[in-house]
Amino acid sequence: MTHTLHVTPLGDLVDHDTSTTDADCVCGPEVRPAAHDDGSIGWLLVHYSLDGREQAEG
Ligand SMILES: [Zn+2]
Repeated sequence: MTHTLHVTPLGDLVDHDTSTTDADCVCGPEVRPAAHDDGSIGWLLVHYSLDGREQAEG
């Protein structure tokens, strides 16, 4: 069984979508394989902070 762990920037201005195991958040998270201590493989979704960076118009 695999599990997905989301890593989101604290206090970011945008709402990150952590309700899915897909990397379809607005910030375009990076997907990394993550090996756990028990030998299982999970996925790490690393979200990017969007505050202070390029802002979408509107
Ligand atoms: Zn995100």
